[in-house]
Amino acid sequence: MNNDQLINRDLSVLWHPCTQMKDHEWLPVVPVKKGHGVWLEDFEGNRYLDAISSWWVNLFGHANPAINQALYEQMQSLEHVLLAGFSHEPAIELAERLVRITPDGLSRVFYADNGSSAVEVALKMSFHYWHNLGHNRRTRFIKLTNSYHGETLGALSVGDVELYTDTYKPLLLDTISVPSPDCFEREPGVSCEEHSRVMFQHMEQTLARYADETCAVILEPLVQCAGNMRMYHPVYLKLLRDACDRYNIHLIADEIAVGFGRTGTLFASEQGGISPDFLCLSKGLTGGYLPLSAVLTSEDIYSAFYDDYQNLRAFLHSHSYTGNPLGCSAALATLDIFEQNDVIANNHKLAAHMAAAVEELHDHPHVGDIRQTGMILAIEMVQDKAGKKAYPWQERRGLKVYQHALKNSVLLRPLGNVIYFMPPYVITPEEIELMARVAIDGIGLATSVNA
Ligand SMILES: *Cc1c(COP(=O)(O)O)cnc(C)c1O
Repeated sequence: MNNDQLINRDLSVLWHPCTQMKDHEWLPVVPVKKGHGVWLEDFEGNRYLDAISSWWVNLFGHANPAINQALYEQMQSLEHVLLAGFSHEPAIELAERLVRITPDGLSRVFYADNGSSAVEVALKMSFHYWHNLGHNRRTRFIKLTNSYHGETLGALSVGDVELYTDTYKPLLLDTISVPSPDCFEREPGVSCEEHSRVMFQHMEQTLARYADETCAVILEPLVQCAGNMRMYHPVYLKLLRDACDRYNIHLIADEIAVGFGRTGTLFASEQGGISPDFLCLSKGLTGGYLPLSAVLTSEDIYSAFYDDYQNLRAFLHSHSYTGNPLGCSAALATLDIFEQNDVIANNHKLAAHMAAAVEELHDHPHVGDIRQTGMILAIEMVQDKAGKKAYPWQERRGLKVYQHALKNSVLLRPLGNVIYFMPPYVITPEEIELMARVAIDGIGLATSVNA
């Protein structure tokens, strides 16, 4: 098999995610034969540095020997069993360890099988908790503008990236939007902390007005990843936790993308010094190997469902592959790597390398912002630097960077005009240099042409 043969077969049967398939008349899909560490290789030996961790899932490289071994051993004994009425050691051990490493107060683990499902679980559990307590007016959720929580209808309802939600508006839940504390929007001379504090006033007002009809506030701690990697200050998390306590409303932290060391701490919530009422985890949970997700919650919330069967208070939600043993064993092997290595300290060094590697872009006339939270670094291309005026989306300048990078052995996948790095934690300083060099040249090209 060569690349072209596979591309032809692919295009005659597949429908790719998040893709206008007509683009593939001129933009080839890349068939991948194998992966190793940060590298992917196609069927003709071309290599691509996976600078985006294959959609933010991979933590310790492709074909990681330790995770491979754990999976191999697990599949000799048990590939899957239902988790209702039955149990297995990987699910139990993973739950024990997640409870230990996540913020205080989260003592119960409910498994699902992908990120969107975890968000659905958290939304339904929060609503159902209030229902079980007799608060029947509580039916709504508060979200931030520019947020993303997945693509299933409930998750889409609490998201706010127009590209994904607009078409489906008639199908979505009636949610309440609060302006994001996104620091890109701050006025010159205003610190990110100050901006995030000021923006909290919108949240405070919304809570004051809607508290008695609201189940929960949901947000992505520190980085709105699918929302163009917009970032805000941890003080917002602290203010929100205090306010949710005052108004007696749940706080759902969606750490599906930012959990597991991505932001400089094991969980992003730690930077605000908070524990959410629900913590959604997926993506990096299995090191990027298998679909699995978990929702952690408190003993108080768990207790509101715990009753005699006849009282019909149980949470009757399930997915077929809930707590799959292979997924759990990949997750356990991933947590072992965290335990056996000082991953967080090493990530701080890698993050500093990433910052240094794009230093020269600060003066670029079409770079409006370079922002970073730990192992996420984003570069925003703008038409006009002073006014931070965006390029028209129709010009697809990010796509030009993508194409340039592919030709030069790097997989970048810009979000609109935002080029970002979110690499596996096993990347080396030399590989960071390559990734940054290719991105810088790509940005130069994409901003020099008249599209
Ligand atoms: C990716 C993502 C999801 C959805 O996870 P899927 O596994 O793709 O369904 C939800 N929330 C956030 C913050 C994400 O980045």
